Amino acid sequence: MKQENLPARAGITGLQDGENVKAPVGIPPAVTEETEPFWAAAAQGRLLVEHCGACGAESFPPYGVCRTCRHRPVEFVEITERGRVYSFTVNHQRWLPGLEVPYAIVLVEFPGHPGVRVAGRLRGCAPEEVAIGAEVEVGFEPGPGGYAVPSFVAVPGAVNAPGDADAPGDADHSGAAGGAGS
Ligand SMILES: [Zn+2]
Repeated sequence: MKQENLPARAGITGLQDGENVKAPVGIPPAVTEETEPFWAAAAQGRLLVEHCGACGAESFPPYGVCRTCRHRPVEFVEITERGRVYSFTVNHQRWLPGLEVPYAIVLVEFPGHPGVRVAGRLRGCAPEEVAIGAEVEVGFEPGPGGYAVPSFVAVPGAVNAPGDADAPGDADHSGAAGGAGS
């Protein structure tokens, strides 16, 4: 398949305000009985994740069953805090007509909701300014079929670069090195 007239990277200038990243076209979500509360809340700008009353695990996207212990039904809890960029990618490919590129997709985690990671576009900053650890607000934007889909808004000046290793709880590397005790 031939790609025609792919936008050059120079198109990045159009993203200064971070607001022209809309993709109302595409495949609408398959809404089920289990996921309907999520979409209803999303329409109100509220992000719900599943919480298991049996084991306490939380997960996203909604599934209707606890991914940890298979308990059902699960409850929904709302995320009201800021998230932090766990990982990100910048997309330069115009997958859909009218899609403005480039844009950043971030994978966000929340301090008060361990185990939950939510992916979405990042608005409010240029793609080249996205950083691991940056704080983001939960937001929604119009998606396929008129459903509101999760996205995120950058919090100005709230970037903690990985080099700023002053944060406590950096225990993710335990057991990975294997070089201790020699
Ligand atoms: Zn569970």
